[in-house]
Amino acid sequence: MRLTRYFLPVLRENPKEAEIVSHRLMLRAGMIRQEAAGIYSWLPLGLAVLQKVGNIVREEMNRAGAVELLMPTLQLADLWRETGRYDAYGPEMLRIKDRHEREMLYGPTNEDMITAIFRASVRSYRELPKILYHIQWKFRDEQRPRFGVMRGREFLMKDAYSFDVDEAGARLAYNRMFVSYLRIFARMGLKIIPMRAETGPIGGDQSHEFIVLAETGESAVYCDRAALELPTPGEDVDYDGDLAPIVKQWTSLYAATEDVHDAARFEAETPEERRVATRGIEVGQVFFFGDKYSKPMNALVTGPDGVDRPFQGGSYGVGVSRLVGALIEANHDAAGIVWPAAVAPFNVGLANLKVGDAATDAACETAYAALEKAGVEVLYDDSDDRPGAKFARLDLIGLPFQLVVGPKGLAAGKVELKTRATGERVELTLEEALSRLAAA
Ligand code: ATP
Ligand code: MG
Repeated sequence: MRLTRYFLPVLRENPKEAEIVSHRLMLRAGMIRQEAAGIYSWLPLGLAVLQKVGNIVREEMNRAGAVELLMPTLQLADLWRETGRYDAYGPEMLRIKDRHEREMLYGPTNEDMITAIFRASVRSYRELPKILYHIQWKFRDEQRPRFGVMRGREFLMKDAYSFDVDEAGARLAYNRMFVSYLRIFARMGLKIIPMRAETGPIGGDQSHEFIVLAETGESAVYCDRAALELPTPGEDVDYDGDLAPIVKQWTSLYAATEDVHDAARFEAETPEERRVATRGIEVGQVFFFGDKYSKPMNALVTGPDGVDRPFQGGSYGVGVSRLVGALIEANHDAAGIVWPAAVAPFNVGLANLKVGDAATDAACETAYAALEKAGVEVLYDDSDDRPGAKFARLDLIGLPFQLVVGPKGLAAGKVELKTRATGERVELTLEEALSRLAAA
């Protein structure tokens, strides 16, 4: 992508409304624009990251055997009356009437709808187990939308739902999603800790929140430092095999959110030097809720014994848009964002230090074409801004590598390759630099 064709409205000044670094940097780097409290447009650079995050989630869901579908954002109130949640949900639910005065709502979550979808076609245990998911916008009229996309009102969520004939099956689904979450966040370069958690309005009797430790997080959390060193299950993890040992390893160290924290147990189970009391950002949550939705909605399956019973369910959310903010909280420095490669909007920023100089332009065009051909995503700064402005902008938007091409270097046969995360710069021939980038 050529910068002169792109849309990258960076801000020079720090926006006053942003209280935390990720919100500040997302506005400054031209990733988002606020349209109303807690409602954002995703500008091209922000959208590129949002899509990468979504794709990692999608790949890992598919790997774990979940199947993607897409439910609408608008739902009928009557569906939510079947479970009693229309009245129970309160002012966080955005309620709308259509032209026929039919009561509708903008979905804050989809348990009720997916249960109706299941009820319409599944009859027998032979069709189970199943896990269905979608990645769709949600609306929750949060009392205090803040911190940019971290607590929005409209936000993008991946929500998966599992269907099993009995509780033992549902626990297997829970473990599948648990392990898949470990992989999702590790692939983004995030250190997370699954913590015992309250179930809240989703209901149910077992739940874990997946938490990124961060001082700016909204929840107080208590955990064993050793959890930060646990190994992530590999790509070859067998989702049809026994996942209980992995889940056990991750859940036997103390880790709890404020709501379920037990100070006496924390002290008894965790050596003093390993006790961490800090704050965290919830990036995902898994719930087992049994027949909480299937029973009132009469969503039955026939078991092997010929008896009909409500299915056993769970739901599994990931905050896709919140993750973009959480990733910046975990990856930035004084100059700007430092994207982990897996979610970077482009891999390389190519800076032409003297647009109009024939040799520099030619070298940049060669580099641009070669990188595109090698499948390396590159943002080519072909603007006539001064070098200092180009460097500052590239540091701000945080692409993993910067390839700097100028007339002085070229006269000596060299370009400069900078690694954003370490600040390391090396002088290389253009060919060397290109082959390093193609291999990175
Ligand atoms: P929170 O406690 O932060 O309000 P929640 O527990 O109500 O979140 P869930 O119902 O568990 O949220 O939703 C699944 C995921 O969606 C959460 O783990 C979080 O990452 C994300 N999420 C929830 N609310 C918001 C929001 N207002 N803005 C952005 N992401 C959100
Ligand atoms: Mg939650």
